[in-house]
Amino acid sequence: MSLPDGVERRQFDNEERLATRGPSVYGEPTDGAWRAWDARRSKLGATLEKGMETGLDGGDSVLYLGAASGTTVSHVADFAGPTYAVEFAPRPARDLVGVAEDRDRLFPLLKDARKPETYAHVVESDLDAIVQDVATRGQARVALENRQFLAEDGRLIAAIKARSEDVTAEPADVFEDVLGDLEDGYEVLDTERLEPFHDDHLAVVARPK
Ligand code: SAM
Repeated sequence: MSLPDGVERRQFDNEERLATRGPSVYGEPTDGAWRAWDARRSKLGATLEKGMETGLDGGDSVLYLGAASGTTVSHVADFAGPTYAVEFAPRPARDLVGVAEDRDRLFPLLKDARKPETYAHVVESDLDAIVQDVATRGQARVALENRQFLAEDGRLIAAIKARSEDVTAEPADVFEDVLGDLEDGYEVLDTERLEPFHDDHLAVVARPK
């Protein structure tokens, strides 16, 4: 599998882990400028650990939906180019602003990912990637509404949380429905369940059609 340029496998405490170079954020182990990327705390980290071809690469422009307090998006901004981080909950967004203070390519936006028109004037178009991790009902809709920001050959890399759509349904059935909805605007290239890192989550790599 190909890791994005700027992401490496390195030894931390005798264990091989993904790592990026940047200021530490969540007490993760460090080795010089490198810091471990904990796949158990990051769906994108788990997606890379699973060996999926995400198409992500160093220097890419990224729209990150569901940034929370910045755990994963901090790693993305370590290797990517301009990284727009959307989060609608004020409390985690405060921490996210702190994370961005140390990273000049990370732009936090306190916005609702279901309303892209509220940040369309800030986010550039023709982006290389959308990374999505919004624990909300209507995850396919969020991906479809933000598709406008992607370049023709851009990639959506989404983690779909089954329980956010329906707590009672079988995750496999939820994933089938979400993938069906995504087909309205995307061609799904690959999918992978994220166990053992994250229960009942499906990683999806797709491109706009
Ligand atoms: N991606 C984060 C990480 O790995 O560091 C964790 C994200 S957490 C699972 C999901 C986040 O999505 C929450 O912080 C939640 O507030 C946010 N979220 C849910 N719906 C959203 C929406 N419509 N717009 C923006 N953020 C949203």
